[in-house]
Amino acid sequence: MPIIDAHIHYGDDAPELLALLAEFDLRLHNINVAQDSHGGWRTDADRYCSLAQQHPQRFAWCTSFDLPAVDDPSFDSTQYVRDVLAGLEQDFAAGAVACKVWKNIGMEVRYPDGRFFHVDDPLLAPIFAWLAERGFPLLAHIAEPLDCWLPLREGSPHYGYYSRNPEWHMYTRPDYPSHGELMAARNRVLEQHPSLRFIGAHLASLEYDVDVLVETLDRYPNLAVDTSARLGDLAAQDSAKVRDFVTKYQDRILFGTDVVMRTPPSSLPPEERAQIIDALRTVYTTHFAYFESKGALTVRGQETVGLGLSQGVLEKLYRTNAEQWYPRL
Ligand SMILES: [Zn+2]
Repeated sequence: MPIIDAHIHYGDDAPELLALLAEFDLRLHNINVAQDSHGGWRTDADRYCSLAQQHPQRFAWCTSFDLPAVDDPSFDSTQYVRDVLAGLEQDFAAGAVACKVWKNIGMEVRYPDGRFFHVDDPLLAPIFAWLAERGFPLLAHIAEPLDCWLPLREGSPHYGYYSRNPEWHMYTRPDYPSHGELMAARNRVLEQHPSLRFIGAHLASLEYDVDVLVETLDRYPNLAVDTSARLGDLAAQDSAKVRDFVTKYQDRILFGTDVVMRTPPSSLPPEERAQIIDALRTVYTTHFAYFESKGALTVRGQETVGLGLSQGVLEKLYRTNAEQWYPRL
């Protein structure tokens, strides 16, 4: 069955990679991450765009927009919105499938008085309205896993990330917005733009308990979620409960891995290239085993039990939900 990885960052077309994609019949939706207010992310965008043009059956891409430099005294909000919309117009004309906002909105960008710039800031409303009017989806990574606000815990699926990236570990930074505040800002956007197709990346940052995620899905019918980088969080929960969740919300969950390409395989000597492609293969086979098998298995070092999802649910999770929620895919 053809499979869409709805959330990945992999801009390369080494023949070994293309062979792997052909083997699994995989199509990659490459996601741009705007890390700054001066277009540094455009290099990736151009790469993702040209890959999608060269290999449309294997690649698609999601654009983004520069962060607003609200701390700059000369910042002109009217001009900013105009520039963002012009950029989006161009990217969608060039084949972009969606637009992404990242966690730096809510957790990094600040007004000169120190207030954080949140995703429900009125500045962004015309941009979201523009997307909604055209049926272009918004992929939003707002906040972080709840563990980000809790003490480092060795068994946590996020232990590695927060021990390596302490600047993002909010437990030690109480002056930053709480997880709840960020979720509330995100929910206000869902409320204010009910016709915006909204995909919450990483299980909408409610990865710690599918029962909590259900409350938000029930409240906002315009919300779907992707599983990217949260397999460990699902595997940590009771498999029967997760199976019931995925089955009940089978139209609103998109398969994604969030693999981030560190070095393009095509720039590496054959042996290292083979290693990288093998690692990628393992990512996919682990995901497939968790969703498809019924037996005991290990996911990211945790003992768990496969979900054994039905063929119909798998087809939605792996492909048709991505096509529904990202109509240009
Ligand atoms: Zn990502």
